[in-house]
Order: sequence, then C-alpha cells, then structure tokens
Amino acid sequence: MHDYLKELNDNQREAASHMEGPLMIVAGAGSGKTKVLTTRIAHLLKQGVDAFNILALTFTNKAAAEMKERIEKILGNSEARNLYIGTFHSVFARILRAEAHKIGYPNSFTIYDSDDAKSLLKTIIKDNNLDDKLYKPQYIYGRISAAKNNLMGPIEYLQDKSIAQEDARSGRPLTGQLYAQYAARCFKNGAMDFDDLLFKMYELLVKHPDVLAKYQHKFRFVLIDEYQDTNIAQYQIIKMLAAVHENICVVGDDAQSIYSFRGATIENILKFQKDYEGAKVIKLEQNYRSTQNILNVANKVIGLNKNQIQKNLWTQNDTGEKLKLVRTLTDNDEGRFVADAIMEQKLRYHYNNKDFAILYRTNAQSRSFEESLRRLNIPYRIFGGLSFYQRKEIKDFIAYLRVIANPQDEEALKRIINYPVRGIGKTSIERIIIIANETDKTFWEVLQTPHLAGLKGAAAAAIDNFVLMMKSFQALMKTKDAYEVAFEVGKHTNLVKELYNDKSVEGLARYENVQELLNAIKEYTETPDEEGELTDKSLGTYLQNITLLTDADKDGDENQDVVKLMTIHAAKGLEFPCVFAVGLEENIFPSAMSLYDRDDLEEERRLFYVVITRAKHKLWISFANSRYRFGSLVQNEPSRFVDEVPPEYMDKSFAGLAGARTGAIARNTSAQQQQRSFTPKEKTEKVYVRPGSKAEETTTAREAAIQKVKAQVNTHIPSANFTASDPEDMEAGMKVEHQKFGIGTIMKMDGGAHNRIATIQFPNGGGEKKIMLAYAKLMII
Ligand code: ATP
Ligand code: MG
Repeated sequence: MHDYLKELNDNQREAASHMEGPLMIVAGAGSGKTKVLTTRIAHLLKQGVDAFNILALTFTNKAAAEMKERIEKILGNSEARNLYIGTFHSVFARILRAEAHKIGYPNSFTIYDSDDAKSLLKTIIKDNNLDDKLYKPQYIYGRISAAKNNLMGPIEYLQDKSIAQEDARSGRPLTGQLYAQYAARCFKNGAMDFDDLLFKMYELLVKHPDVLAKYQHKFRFVLIDEYQDTNIAQYQIIKMLAAVHENICVVGDDAQSIYSFRGATIENILKFQKDYEGAKVIKLEQNYRSTQNILNVANKVIGLNKNQIQKNLWTQNDTGEKLKLVRTLTDNDEGRFVADAIMEQKLRYHYNNKDFAILYRTNAQSRSFEESLRRLNIPYRIFGGLSFYQRKEIKDFIAYLRVIANPQDEEALKRIINYPVRGIGKTSIERIIIIANETDKTFWEVLQTPHLAGLKGAAAAAIDNFVLMMKSFQALMKTKDAYEVAFEVGKHTNLVKELYNDKSVEGLARYENVQELLNAIKEYTETPDEEGELTDKSLGTYLQNITLLTDADKDGDENQDVVKLMTIHAAKGLEFPCVFAVGLEENIFPSAMSLYDRDDLEEERRLFYVVITRAKHKLWISFANSRYRFGSLVQNEPSRFVDEVPPEYMDKSFAGLAGARTGAIARNTSAQQQQRSFTPKEKTEKVYVRPGSKAEETTTAREAAIQKVKAQVNTHIPSANFTASDPEDMEAGMKVEHQKFGIGTIMKMDGGAHNRIATIQFPNGGGEKKIMLAYAKLMII
C-alpha cells in the first residue's frame, strides 16, 4: 500500500482510493475531509489519470493553494500544476477567458469587484432620476446578485410575479428595470461582476453544447470541497460538467453551512444521492484536529440545531484545557485582554505568533485588537476588511491598467479620465456620456472624436492627449509584461509624482502604497506561475489575478509569523492551535438580523460551531459589556451562545483578573443585562480590567503577574512600553529613540489628541521624519 494511504483510517482510505463513480463524504469538522480530497487527487494521478483531466473546486484561493501544496508533497513532483484547481470564480474566469467571445464578450473582459458594480448602479439609478436613498446601490446590487445566483437573468426577473410583488412591497418596483439596464451596461463595457463569473459560465454551457461537451470530456474527474456552501448556480454548473463521466466527489458538512444568505443550500447535500443513483456515501467520525474538551463543546452546541444530519464526532486527542470565558468592560479592554493573553501564552508555552487567530463576526470588529497588538509589538495581519486593493490610490492606479487592458471599461475610464487633473471637466465628461448613450457607442469610442460630442478647444485637446497616451500604453502591452507597462504608467501619468509631491503624512502613505503596488506587480512578473497553462505575465493576466483574490487570500506569505485576524466566514476550513472567538454578544453574534427567524438563528449557531472547531489546542470566548458601534456607546448582553456552552467544559475563573464586580461595571450594565445575562453564581464572575482604566482598583494577583510578564518582555523589546498612551508626554525639544531611525530630537508636535504627529530630526537615521505616534515605536530617553 502507498504510504499516503497508510496514514488514513479505514473510512478515509476507502474514500481516497475510490476511483470511478459518484462519491459523497459527509462528516463533521476536522475529520479529514480536505485531507481525503487531496489524497484522492494524488491517488488518481498515481493511478495514471492525467492532471489536465481533473477539476477541483473550493471556496478560497488559500484553500486551493493549500490543496495543491499537499498534493505536491505526496507526489514529490510538480504534476499538480496541471490540475484545474481553484475557487469556483477563478476556474470559471479562466474558462471564460478562453470562451467569452462565444457569448459576445471580449475574451479580455474586465472583472468588476463589488465597488465597481455599485458605482455603476449608482450612475444608472441617477440616470433614471430615482432616489438613491430608496434605491440604494447596495440593496439593488444584493437583489441582482441573488437573482444571478439563482440563475435568473433580467428577463426572468421581470417576468416573475412573486419577485415583482416583493419589489413593489419594498417600495422599489423598478428594481427589475435597473437590473436590465445594469446587465446591458456591463455587457457594453465588456465587464462581468463576480456573480457573472458563475452566471455567464452557466449561460455559456447552456447555449453552446459544443463548449459543454468539450469541458465534460476534459474533466473526467470533478471534486468539490465544502459542498454544503454551493449555491444554485454552482450546483447546476457542476451537475452539467459531471454529467458524462459522473466521476464526481463532493465533500461537506451540513453543520458548517454558513452561506445561505448568498443562496447556498444544504439541500445540495441532501439531494446528492437522488442526483446520482448508486452514489457511494462515506461518513467520517474521528476528529483529528481538536482536544476532547473543544470537541465536546462543539458537539453540544450543534446538537441544539433542529436541522442536521446526525453525526457522532469523537477524538483520541488529549482532553486538553477547558474553554476559557472572558468578560470585559469595554471592547478596548477585550482587545487588551487578547493581546496580553497572546503575550503570556507565547512566553509560557513558546507559541509563535502564527499559532493564534482572533476570529470575529464582522470585519468592523478588528480595530480594538489591532490597536492592542500594535501596542505590545505583536505582528499581526488582517485578512479581509479594507484591504490594500481597496485603497483609493491603488484603485486609481489599477483603473489605468484596466483601461489599457480593456478600453471599453467605462467605470475605470471615468475614474481616471481627469485624474490627475488634465483639464477634462465634469461638463465634458457628462457630454461624452450622453453622446455615448444616444449613439450606442462606448465611452472610449466617443473619446476618439471629441469634436463630434461638441467639444472644442482646450477640452478637446486634453482628450486627444489622453487618448494618445492610453493608446501608447496599449501598444506597449502587446510586447511588454505587466510590470513594464505599469512602470510606464506611473512615469507618464504623473500619478506617482503627484503623490510624491504631497508631503503630508497621508500623502506619504499613499505614495508608499503605490510603490508597494509596483513592487507587487514586479514580484508577480518574476514569480514562476503555478497555474498550469497560465504562464504569461501580461497585464491582462495580472489584472485577473488581483481581481479574483478573495478576502481571505490577500494575505501574501502563508508562513509569515503573524497573528491572524479574520471573520469566522473567512476562517472556514482552516485550523489554528489557539483561537480567540471574540465579540460574543447579542446583536453581534448572533447578529441582529438573525434574531427573529429560526433558520437564520440556526445558521448563526452553525457559525458558532465553525469558530469552535477551528481550534486545535486552546479556545477563548470573550465579550464586552459595552462597545462603540455606529459612533455611540452601546450596552450588550452576552450572546445566548455563551449560555449554550456546558459549564463543565468552561473555565470562567481564568478571567479572574479582577476582584469583585466594580462600580464601573455596575454603571455600565443595563438593567436588562443584569436581568438576563449571568445567573447568580456568575455575579461573582471576574472581569478583566486594564491598569490605568477607571477600574484600576480591581487589579489582582494575575494582573500583577501580567505586568511582570510584560516587564520581562519589555527588556527584550525596549520600545514596547512606550505606546500610544504615552505621546501625551512628548513635546518639542525632547530626545527620543525610534526602533528603526535611532536617536532623534522632536522638532514639533501636530495633530489632535488621538492622532499626534511628531516631526523628528534623526541625525543618523535619514534626517527629518514625520511620525504618527499612534503607530510609532518611540521611547523617550
Ligand atoms: P473542516 O470541516 O474544518 O474543513 P476537515 O474535515 O476538512 O475539516 P482536515 O482539515 O482535512 O479536516 O483535517 C483536520 C486535521 O486533522 C488536519 O490537521 C489533518 O492533517 C488532520 N488529519 C486528518 N486525518 C488524519 C489522520 N488520519 N491522521 C492524522 N491526522 C489527520
Ligand atoms: Mg476542510
């Protein structure tokens, strides 16, 4: 027997060595589903199946990259490069790049991210003279997205009576018309949004039987991870592709279905045996990931859901520590607690930063953790949220690249036509839009002949120059790689110079971001490709690559030693030695939207199950009495999920950083909260309080212990004890030490209380620098 099969238990081995015919693996978290899937792919290759004939789909690029890595490890060669492996969106985009012309799109179509899509919708809503407070772009986008994921085009949408009623009831009867106009504009712009990558793929296969037949024969084996999260569009496409060979293997866990809001349905799992007669079903019940305690909690919690396939997950792993419940006064205290705990765990048990994950319900919760980690000098990385690629200066730069690759891309064109300012004013732009609409030409086509749009003199000359410049870049693109084109763009558009000349702190940051983008493009062109056939480094391929990075993927190097922060959704399928599940408060988790519907609440509970089962060794659950939300201080009750954790598996005394409940807590606790939250025994529950805060009097032995640990740490990292709370003491004339620039003298201080900026002269560190104290590592000497 092959070594890689020996590692597996009997059920896993049976699944991994299964060759022909439909196969479904349903199993709980951490039972080795993904491991089986990758082993099976390796096994197929070992048995002589050609990598080009295998299609493997999953939900994040990160998961796909990990799968590829595992397969390569088993095989000991790079044959995995030739697999069609990736996210649904990236694999379908790749197929559409080859076939889009069949459905009337340029093969170099642009991919609109959600911001582009909403910006286009905003224009359309305005063109229709509709109130964008009622017809909110975000809302309309959501409706269109749902329609596409249910495989409904504008025509079906407009014909559907119940949808018409729904839209009428919501006061937005024209939603269908907006959808139709949006779809027409995208088509005209040669653009597809994320949902189109599924929807158009479906259309392609349905309308072109020859294309369908080609891919049906190509993909002799189809494998899908996280099948419980597929939506109708994904389900139908898979079904069509697998229809000839029926060598389809799906892997999933109904208990982890967390995307019903995006149209995913557990039904897909339940229907599998009906869809494929004679399908083999294998269950895996041994968990290899977590300690017994963690697993016990997970089983108990998910057991409260009514809708589920019964599973009995067990483990041979150690009992492990109990789950730790932590209650804090405020969200900032929660942040500090987590950072302190990470510091302590690292010192005591020699964990690395990358062994920790902080997982929250929504991206907006990351701030307090970021701040406290920064204070303790703990490197971290946020996955998702406002990422690099969503920053304005980066979007501007990329808009140039997009127009070069696809001049039909109106959204990108409008973004840059007068940025940096080149004398093409708002009126001229509006004129061009009107003419384009009237003559059914694209924006770019009208730009070729500005005089036909009634533009004369300086405006027309400015447009001519702009068009000329863009055409020269387009010519460059034919022979040069992505970096060379981008470099010329930076040089000739004045984009980089403009930012360079802006000497404010923000300007500097923007300039550095653009440099960083150029670095990233350079790195891209110099890194060997792992996408099999896609070996070209052209601008077009680069753009496709970055647009398809899903939130969880914008992480760069997987092996960086950083604490990971992300939403629970993004953490699906991943595992970490130590997990902090934070913000366990009613209205946050479960979210306010889910409180009135059993199905929604069950989905939130599945999400809770997902977060618990990410942990291998240790799990903390925390919540704050109060936090700032939408600009004001809100009191929250502890999440109902906290009460669902059986007390015997939970250690509350761990949170015993403070003595009895303090006055501060009483002040912060609403009557409602006192009534609901903790039962009498919990009244004595300890609350974590940060020294220096109002409740400092509650400092206890453990607090002192933490201080001691920090003092030790501070001897290793000299600057760690000077943090954002200290800048108040700084003033002009003082001498300070910066970790990178060395010793310097403060020349002046600017900025408000929370955003103090010091201008410092560093004689040996490159002269004068502006330093934001909230981020700086400075020590007064
Ligand atoms: P999830 O539901 O979270 O996606 P999963 O079922 O896909 O989980 P994997 O990620 O494949 O589970 O496996 C969980 C962990 O258990 C991994 O670290 C994996 O290497 C390990 N593992 C799985 N099967 C075995 C086995 N037979 N022997 C040893 N370790 C195993
Ligand atoms: Mg998995």
